[in-house]
Amino acid sequence: MTEMQFLAGARRAGSGDRTIPVSDPSTGEVITTYTPATERDVTDAIAAARSAAGEWGRVPPAERAGVLNRASRILADRAVEVAAVESRNAGKPIRLATEFDVPGTIDNVEFFAGAARHLEGKAAAEYVLGMTSFIRRQPVGVVGSISPWNYPLQMAAWKILPAVAAGNAIVLKPAEITPLTTVLLAEILTEAGLPAGVVNVVSGPGSVTGTALLRAPGTDMLSFTGSTSVGRIVQQAAVEGARRVHLELGGKAPFVVFNDADLEAAIHGAVAASLVNAGQDCTAATRAIVHSSLYSDFVAGVAELYATVRIGPTDDPATDLGPVISPEHRARVSGFIERARAERRVFGGELVDGPGSYLRPALIADADPVDEWFREEIFGPVLTVTPFESEAEAIALANDTVYGLAASAWTRDVGRAMRVTRDIQAGCVWVNDHITIVSDMPHGGVKQSGFGKDMSDYSLDDYTTVKHVAIDSSGVARRPWHRTVFTDTSAAG
Ligand code: NAD
Repeated sequence: MTEMQFLAGARRAGSGDRTIPVSDPSTGEVITTYTPATERDVTDAIAAARSAAGEWGRVPPAERAGVLNRASRILADRAVEVAAVESRNAGKPIRLATEFDVPGTIDNVEFFAGAARHLEGKAAAEYVLGMTSFIRRQPVGVVGSISPWNYPLQMAAWKILPAVAAGNAIVLKPAEITPLTTVLLAEILTEAGLPAGVVNVVSGPGSVTGTALLRAPGTDMLSFTGSTSVGRIVQQAAVEGARRVHLELGGKAPFVVFNDADLEAAIHGAVAASLVNAGQDCTAATRAIVHSSLYSDFVAGVAELYATVRIGPTDDPATDLGPVISPEHRARVSGFIERARAERRVFGGELVDGPGSYLRPALIADADPVDEWFREEIFGPVLTVTPFESEAEAIALANDTVYGLAASAWTRDVGRAMRVTRDIQAGCVWVNDHITIVSDMPHGGVKQSGFGKDMSDYSLDDYTTVKHVAIDSSGVARRPWHRTVFTDTSAAG
């Protein structure tokens, strides 16, 4: 049993009366168990955050940056350990955890250490004679936040870092099945000097701990990364409390290959961007939309590369593709593949025997826009392929989704690149690449992929309020505008 709550600077057990297992998706083995946070623990966490928020918000930016810089060094020193925990709990190949999740998080921490010192507003000026106005960027206060299981460490970092860099305190609920590295990150930040109560973690199921966090009256803002269906519940809770809300939701990214594309690059890009993290990535390439002149070569090339992907133990550095997160999720992903197999050409997608939630990558060719595998977020190692003839048709297919998180276009025509990056509805459009994400640039969606930005300076807009301060510099007792109330202002001054 592990203490999986982090309140007021220390680990503790949740007050729930049952235990929750934390498993290794590659073997099904239980790594540890914990007692979940109940409403009482959530109330305590919010109280801890409330008492820490005011003072932390007044700490000079350079000192906030200093804490984050120390945290990045501690994380770098413990990188091997953290990557091993992340790999085991989330079923990630160790190469992915070591080369992407942990260094990506270190870079996020370093970025926000710098960003904490660059909060900007309009310069002070006189917009009315005798009155000087300026802008204060202030923390929102206490943020109630919820994160998903697909990148537990990075999603926790994306939620915690902009909030604390801007001077807020946060209560974060990780996904109940992947809390390990979120609690580790809170510990590391605290060891680096973050005052007790600025970061709190309440671990437990969405239906219990998540509901308690959303309903609690003590938060000033809700921030959420997860599915669009749960995002609606979060938005509803924000409406009821008239609170600010930030939503990073699902995706169904199109991957559009035009007739002038570098076919080899597009095939490699499609395989990498659909299989990274076993396709459990909100920005993963999920719908290849390919010009008819390249269509059969693209399908053959992706199917051939898919067949070479090495599936294996997550702790083996040679493993390319790990399991999906759980047996239930594997059954859901496989359900899409097997229903497609009855109607379309499907390459791969077989279940892998043995322990662990493994399945082979699946390419579903000739997908029609009405197909469920074209429309729904499958969140597994699955790519659909659909042909097109004209640029307008390609853009219409790309936009034929409720989601709008990410997309890519593959073309060597600069004019076309300009047109399609304008017309594809998504928070990010890559040209001749797919999935490259950097700390310096905003990540977030349009349409039902949500609103608000993670990372970059733009995320700080979400976690700060803009306050107008106006100071009279005239010293005059009766102002000209008082005429709207007192007709006689002759005695002014
Ligand atoms: P999910 O929506 O099922 O769960 C996300 C979190 O919400 C978890 O912590 C869960 O416990 C909690 N939750 C569930 N029901 C709740 C409720 N009723 N009240 C309060 N909290 C509740 O998502 P998931 O399966 O963990 O993650 C996969 C989803 O996340 C996919 O849709 C994916 O696209 C999305 N995602 C989006 C981004 C992004 O940046 N836009 C990033 C990663 C993942």
